[in-house]
Amino acid sequence: MSDANGSLDSAHVASVRKIRVVGDPVLHSPARPVTSFDDELAELIEDMFATLAVAEGVGLAAPQIGIDLAVFVYDCPDESGVRQVGHVVNPAIETSGTVEASEEGCLSVPGPFHELTRSTAAAVRGVDRTGAPVEVAGTGYFARCLQHETDHLRGVLYVDYLPRNRRRRVLRDMTPFDWNAPVLPRSGGEQLGDLHRVERGPLA
Ligand SMILES: [Zn+2]
Repeated sequence: MSDANGSLDSAHVASVRKIRVVGDPVLHSPARPVTSFDDELAELIEDMFATLAVAEGVGLAAPQIGIDLAVFVYDCPDESGVRQVGHVVNPAIETSGTVEASEEGCLSVPGPFHELTRSTAAAVRGVDRTGAPVEVAGTGYFARCLQHETDHLRGVLYVDYLPRNRRRRVLRDMTPFDWNAPVLPRSGGEQLGDLHRVERGPLA
C-alpha cells in the first residue's frame, strides 16, 4: 500500500470495521506492542477513527476491531468540554487525583452501562504513528476514557471490574448495535435508538 517513498497510498479509503464484542479472545488478552511504524499502521488508525465516528463512541482500541496491537484512538471532551482528538501507540498510563464513580459503557459490551469507580486524573505516555513520543493527560471524563482504552490493550474490559452478579446482568442485557457491520448502517428507528444510547456517554 505504499509507493517508493513510503508515503501513504492515496487510494486508501478509511473503512468502518466490525466491532468485536465481549467473549472474543482478542478482547481478553494483552495486545502486542507496535514495532512497525508503516503505512499499515497509519491505515489502521484511519480505520479506527472511521469506526469510532460511526459508533459515536469517545475512544476505540485496536483489539475492538480484531487487531491485537497496542493502539487506541480517542475523540472525547475533556473536563472543560473541549474536544480532544488523537491516537496513542504503545501507551503506558499513570493515574492520580482521587477516585469517582460514574456510568461507564463499552462498544464491545453494547447496550448496558454500569457505574464504575475510576481515578479522576490520568496521563498516558506512548508514541504516535511515526514513532515520535506523545503524552496525553486528562481529568474527569477524559481521564476515564484514557483508563478505559489502556485497559483494552491489557485485555481488560470495564465489566471485568464489576461484581460477578452485576457482570452477569450486564452481559445478559447486551443489545447488539445495528450499525455494527463493515458497511454503513441502513436508516431506521431502532438503529437511531442505539446511536442515541451511545451518545449518552459510553466509552469505547
Ligand atoms: Zn471499551
